[in-house]
Amino acid sequence: MTVTVVNPATEETIATLDEAGVEEADAAVARAKAAFPGWRDVTPRERGRLLRRLATLVEENGEGLARIESQNVGKPIAGARGEVAMVADVFHFYAGAVDKKHGETIPVAGGVDMTFREPLGVVGLIVPWNFPLNISSWKLGPALACGNTVVLKPAELTPLSALELARLALEAGIPEGVINVVVGKGRIVGQRLVEHPDVAKIGFTGSTEVGRGVMKGAAETIKRVTLELGGKSANIVFADADLDQAAGAAPYAVFDNAGQDCCARSRILVEHSAYDRFAELLIEATRGVTVGDPTDEHTDMGPLISRQHRETVASFVEGEPLFRGDAPDSKGFWYPCTLVEATNDDRVAREEVFGPVAALIPFADEDEAIRIANDTPYGLSGSIWTSNGARALRVARALDTGVVSINSNSSVRVATPFGGFKQSGFGRELGMHGLDGYSEVKNVFYSTEG
Ligand code: NDP
Repeated sequence: MTVTVVNPATEETIATLDEAGVEEADAAVARAKAAFPGWRDVTPRERGRLLRRLATLVEENGEGLARIESQNVGKPIAGARGEVAMVADVFHFYAGAVDKKHGETIPVAGGVDMTFREPLGVVGLIVPWNFPLNISSWKLGPALACGNTVVLKPAELTPLSALELARLALEAGIPEGVINVVVGKGRIVGQRLVEHPDVAKIGFTGSTEVGRGVMKGAAETIKRVTLELGGKSANIVFADADLDQAAGAAPYAVFDNAGQDCCARSRILVEHSAYDRFAELLIEATRGVTVGDPTDEHTDMGPLISRQHRETVASFVEGEPLFRGDAPDSKGFWYPCTLVEATNDDRVAREEVFGPVAALIPFADEDEAIRIANDTPYGLSGSIWTSNGARALRVARALDTGVVSINSNSSVRVATPFGGFKQSGFGRELGMHGLDGYSEVKNVFYSTEG
């Protein structure tokens, strides 16, 4: 069996790989298990040095990695370069974090009580196709820093950058068996990792539906799980906001990565009194998004990942939208930037579109904005645009969501925790919080009597 890897901008085959099944997944787990004692015992300083070397190799090979990611996912090359730069930063961060996650001493009678953070063992990392390299690094960085060995399963559609990263890890001196990449179907290889008795934890990013299955499957072996799932985030624009700034930024908060972003602010909530003006400005800004060849330095948005996904995205747009942009009519899975007017009960506002479709929804006042924003099963990210500082913080605290930005749409940073509330999942990635999910607390009491 083989995996055919396609460039979504041209529909051309760019690679053909052997497809792994259960046997190969088991072999990868066995390799990771064999490598674990050695990797756990690598001194913190040396582990940090190896991760830093990997970060440096990612930088040195940045252009090649960015081209792989751009070709395989259809990402505009400029954006792909930015993502690879983040991957290097993630490894630099966790290289520095290895010896900074300290235990505690706790006052108790009769001795000294201390805590240690122990690695879990073999961890299975399952990642989606929208940010293959970035999301892999968010899991690999803390997993390796804590002393775990890993089996990484990229999405079948986008395995190429993970394979290249594993090659660079070996070149960096990270021992054989510490990182194992398995290219195969989620419901076979992914499922096997979830059920495998020698896998201690699954770090999963993907859809809420598959995440639910991962959680169920993990229950059998009481596996630890971190779930980074879907989102339906609100971009709340109050009438007192700088409307030019809010409208100018809004397209990139939805259409970046062709809307295939769990953080996409795909519900744009606008206060009634500013609605018409904001809509005009938003249409103008959306008109400025250049959709086309991902290899062109000036392209803002590329194609969707697959033909099937394009059909799903198209199914959300009924009738004539408020605005529809341009997209190439050549080969490739193109879909234009699309703005629709909606209520929060419409399907386009309830379900994750995962494509370049944004829904404009009016609201009357602060209470209604909060109510609408929270009226979703998801809780990943969101934005608040206002010039009233007290309101900004009030609303930020009231939103049931893991990551919020004020007068900004950016919510992902290497040093800060990222993750969801509600059905967007649980556990945090990035920053020092990311280490919690890849280590176990051990408590040791040492008697000082006798
Ligand atoms: P899927 O949930 O379909 O797939 C995610 C990963 O899980 C893929 O590697 C897939 O493998 C694998 N998988 C599929 N079925 C199983 C299974 N039964 N057991 C174990 N693993 C399985 O998501 P998509 O790839 O379609 O990604 C899009 C989704 O990811 C969106 O809903 C989006 O919101 C979410 N996402 C969330 C993020 C977050 O941080 N919260 C970030 C990015 C995306 P394969 O595809 O090879 O079959």
